Amino acid sequence: MSNSTRPHAGPRTTTSVLVSGAGIAGTALAYWLNRYGFHVTVVERAPSLRGGGQAVDIRGTALTVVERMGLLEEVRARRTGLLGMSVVGADGREVCRTTEWTASGGPIGGPDVEILRDELAELIAGAEKGDGGPGTAGPGVEYRFDDAIETLVQHPAGVDVRFRGGTERSFDLVVGADGLHSNTRRLVFGPEADYLHPIGTYLAGWSAPNHLGLDRWEIAHRDADDPNWFCMAMTVRDNSELRVFVGFHTDEPMDDVLPRDPARQRALVAERSAHARWELPRLLRAMGEPDAAFHYDVVAQIRMERWSEDRVVLLGDAGYCCSPATGQGTSVALTAAYVLAGELRAADGDHRAAFPAYERRLRDHVAANQAILELTGDRRARADMITNLGQADPRMEAVFQAALAFDLPDY
Ligand SMILES: Cc1cc2nc3c(=O)[nH]c(=O)nc-3n(C[C@H](O)[C@H](O)[C@H](O)COP(=O)(O)OP(=O)(O)OC[C@H]3O[C@@H](n4cnc5c(N)ncnc54)[C@H](O)[C@@H]3O)c2cc1C
Repeated sequence: MSNSTRPHAGPRTTTSVLVSGAGIAGTALAYWLNRYGFHVTVVERAPSLRGGGQAVDIRGTALTVVERMGLLEEVRARRTGLLGMSVVGADGREVCRTTEWTASGGPIGGPDVEILRDELAELIAGAEKGDGGPGTAGPGVEYRFDDAIETLVQHPAGVDVRFRGGTERSFDLVVGADGLHSNTRRLVFGPEADYLHPIGTYLAGWSAPNHLGLDRWEIAHRDADDPNWFCMAMTVRDNSELRVFVGFHTDEPMDDVLPRDPARQRALVAERSAHARWELPRLLRAMGEPDAAFHYDVVAQIRMERWSEDRVVLLGDAGYCCSPATGQGTSVALTAAYVLAGELRAADGDHRAAFPAYERRLRDHVAANQAILELTGDRRARADMITNLGQADPRMEAVFQAALAFDLPDY
């Protein structure tokens, strides 16, 4: 059912919600809460919506959510539109190619949408302006960029928040949508190490000029001498740009490189890729450019026994990151934002009813999507999957089944 024009506006609630993080989960939740008439503030650590990252996939239930947001057409118009992919070996020679499949986006020509992560966040944030789109009850979303929650104290009437910038304010509810390394989770539920399950893989992504002259194409590069390393490059934005990512597996503890120190992260990626030939020297030079939108992180899942504590609740990667290895983080975040907002609306802002209902509805869906990681097998098999050219890969079938296995409620 296409619901973008369905009148959602009800009486405006007085409930105020602070959302930490303006990624996919945070912006999508803000969209829905604003549409339902909640007072929404989003605090984002970065100075603006964060650029960078690769393309992400929207499939299954999440496509219906996007349709209900009235964004399906725009999202489809911005799809990466890749025509196929090749695998090149260490000497740069093409080993094989297909026009039926890409490693990043799956089957070509299907209903799923592959879109740049940053473009999706921009689209959602643009849609949530309180300018009276059909059914919009909210006053618009207040964004506080370049800021973060420093402390939060819950009490029976609300949550008192002190921001890093010094401001102090009270909110009825706080949502932690601040990603894999969630600050909200740390403040309320304790240290990250209690919930983070790394798989020994690290991913770095950045943008580079399309000096390869590729036309809507993806290249996966493997080096037979180092099966624990791979590189991918794909064209984006009308072939004007490449998005590159390098992945490597290691058993060495890498935690000390994780804190936000891009210079050390870049040096590590360059070191790990030093053996590589093909176009790597040039791509690695591009990684060093200031506008390369460099992003580096561990591939990990977040597993928690509960997602809320009184007036604070976690959403998306913060509470149940599936990891990029499943390809499902964005779809799960979109569906979860819709459900959390819907349950809050159904309970008229009463978190005691809404938060358990949100968790009940989503637990199995999250578990099915997290389980995809197990299906992808060991490290080598995962890397093989990433550069797999077989469109009938049964592991991808599991992705689709998990993605579709959710009965989206109407709110
Ligand atoms: C830069 C970037 C690149 C990514 N690239 C890929 C990719 O290539 N492939 C893939 O599958 N997934 C990628 N992801 C993860 C993917 O976006 C998520 O798995 C998925 O979309 C769920 O989104 P989320 O909103 O829960 O988390 P995220 O998209 O990670 O968003 C979290 C947001 O919270 C903000 N934040 C973090 N800490 C704080 C804080 N203390 N206070 C306030 N705000 C904070 C972050 O800046 C970010 O905007 C990337 C994430 C980021 C941030």
